Amino acid sequence: MTAMLPYGRQSVTADDVAAVVAALRSDWLTTGPQVDAFEADLASWTGGVGCAAVSNGTAALHVGYAAAGVGPGDEVVVPPMTFVATASSAVALGAKVVFADVEEETFTLDPAAAAAATTARTRVVSAVDYAGHPADYDALRGALAGSDALLLADAAHSIGATYRGRPVGSLADLTTFSFFPTKNLTTAEGGAVAALDAELLTRARRFRNIGLVRERDALRWPDEGGWHQEVHEFGLNYRLPDVLCALGRSQLRRLGDFLAARARLVARYDEALADLDGVLRPGRRSWAAPAWHLYPIRVLDGRRREVYDRMRAAGIGVQVNYLPAHWHPAFADLGYRRGSCPVAESFYEQQLSLPLFPTLTGADQDRVIDALGAALRGVTARPAAA
Ligand SMILES: *Cc1c(COP(=O)(O)O)cnc(C)c1O
Repeated sequence: MTAMLPYGRQSVTADDVAAVVAALRSDWLTTGPQVDAFEADLASWTGGVGCAAVSNGTAALHVGYAAAGVGPGDEVVVPPMTFVATASSAVALGAKVVFADVEEETFTLDPAAAAAATTARTRVVSAVDYAGHPADYDALRGALAGSDALLLADAAHSIGATYRGRPVGSLADLTTFSFFPTKNLTTAEGGAVAALDAELLTRARRFRNIGLVRERDALRWPDEGGWHQEVHEFGLNYRLPDVLCALGRSQLRRLGDFLAARARLVARYDEALADLDGVLRPGRRSWAAPAWHLYPIRVLDGRRREVYDRMRAAGIGVQVNYLPAHWHPAFADLGYRRGSCPVAESFYEQQLSLPLFPTLTGADQDRVIDALGAALRGVTARPAAA
């Protein structure tokens, strides 16, 4: 028996367990004091920008688009180098997704491509901080000058990163996070939306809670009675329970340590791969302090599939992030064609994510590096004994 080294893995400590147990023993399982406290703790990572906790990162995107007023007849510009939810959650609201290509090196949304894709119908332009590297937000703002479109940052990979010294969460009108176990921190399932504008944040909070309005001065029929609440616009139940917010608060206390551990591992990969022929290391811009969620290498000479298969056979759980979103059959069936975003598509053909998570040991990282070297020599490394 051999154990597959995963590409990502959560770190859960006794403190996390104690925090969850304490919440379970409290008077609230959901929508209690831990939600407000988690949102306040998150805001300390977004430069004070207000946050709404939601049930997962896909829900965060759905909530963000709904808060922006996305609906039928609207267009949403999305880069294809992302998890499909960045695009599909806009489709769920009846919008048309317009894919715009990414930049070389960082594989984040290309501001020139975003400008070319933006029309009078564009309601939101979504950037994705691929692998934890922020997109070029000042250039994206410039590209959208003169348009009414809102800028959304899908920061599922990048909580804790900074752009020109400013934190992710403060860079776009709306920012979405995911707390899935492989991400930079986890609440099992979970996510959040940060909004620069108070009105947008209120709309996000309402959509997350079925659209219910409770504030007396906002009610259409304020004298109905003390029990009264109203729905003005339809929403869904995307609440994150108190129990999971307690886990999130405990995890956030270690986010700085998680990011430091990821940065150390990235530096070690960078050094070990510097002289390896046949692969390219992830690119970065001088203005970014990434929060590395992935370590995405490029395997040259058409050998990505072979290297993937050899590393998997060696017990190294490498991953491919991502199939270009417009290649999914659901988009192909809507008429989206391969070839429309050549930078993202040729990157996909080469892309391979090496294992990266805070508890990855030096010995395991050596195994990854050795197995990669062997795969590039056309050899499959022996898997480690369990
Ligand atoms: C993980 C992820 C999502 C979705 O988050 P879930 O919590 O899995 O729903 C969205 N966008 C990107 C870029 C992601 O990596």
